[in-house]
Amino acid sequence: MPDLAYLNGEIMPIEKAMVPIEDRGYQFGDSVYEYIATYDGRFFMLEAHLDRLERSMSELNYAPIARDELKTAIEELNHQAGYPRAGIYIQISRGVAPRNHAFDAKLAHQFVMTVRAVHELPKEARSKGINAITIPDMRWGRCDIKTVQLLANSLAKQKALDAGCDDAIFVSQHGIVREGTSSNVFIVSGKQLMTHPLTENILAGITRMVIIQICKKIGLDVNITLFNTEALYNADEVFLTGTVTEILPVVRIDGNGIGKGKPGSISRKLFKRLRERALAGEPD
Ligand code: PMP
Repeated sequence: MPDLAYLNGEIMPIEKAMVPIEDRGYQFGDSVYEYIATYDGRFFMLEAHLDRLERSMSELNYAPIARDELKTAIEELNHQAGYPRAGIYIQISRGVAPRNHAFDAKLAHQFVMTVRAVHELPKEARSKGINAITIPDMRWGRCDIKTVQLLANSLAKQKALDAGCDDAIFVSQHGIVREGTSSNVFIVSGKQLMTHPLTENILAGITRMVIIQICKKIGLDVNITLFNTEALYNADEVFLTGTVTEILPVVRIDGNGIGKGKPGSISRKLFKRLRERALAGEPD
């Protein structure tokens, strides 16, 4: 099956898709993105991802793109690729212009996408949990906008791998636990879950939202509040959430064993519920 790209209305093999070198996404990181996954060929939480994409665009004063146009393009690309489990990456930049910090409000977007099969996380990561480090959050002040400015995330992830760990968790200068390099963070203490509130310091993860909904449904209490590294180290369970990550237990952080040092029952239960919901194929 082919890995395909979409470039301003045209679908082609990925290696044929080129953007001009004066794309503002390339020169200024002036570009927003989304990553949406399918289960059994059907998108999970498509509308929520499109809501977030539209919000990212509007926060940066990009001209809007009609939802129908976005949806038709995404669905056509997914259809042509035909993967049962696809990951669609969508990137919209402000446009192409001679390099200048200031920009013209009338620039035409560059709208590009790629589709590839989702590579499931290694089974062992899911069954045994992963190791993480914490890292000072040096990102800009609008992490709620999903821009391609991911250098800090990329360096943090690499630092974790170089340290023999699997991922990094961003922590504020006051020790507040924010989010992972490409995921949100939940902790469980007793029967109580905690996760960071929606502020400008984290991305409003779609999976985070779904997990909060599932918790409500099954009677688990989620306290949406700031918490620090001490609470993180002392939690019974810690897990990351994201579109690819789904739910991934973290069993060791900065060398501290979390809970019993293996994935806990609440993480396992929520993973099962999340998969069930994704596979049910209900509209969001
Ligand atoms: N935070 C960051 C920084 C991310 O990159 C992601 C992945 N998009 C998430 C959180 C999780 O978001 P979602 O559940 O929508 O994939």
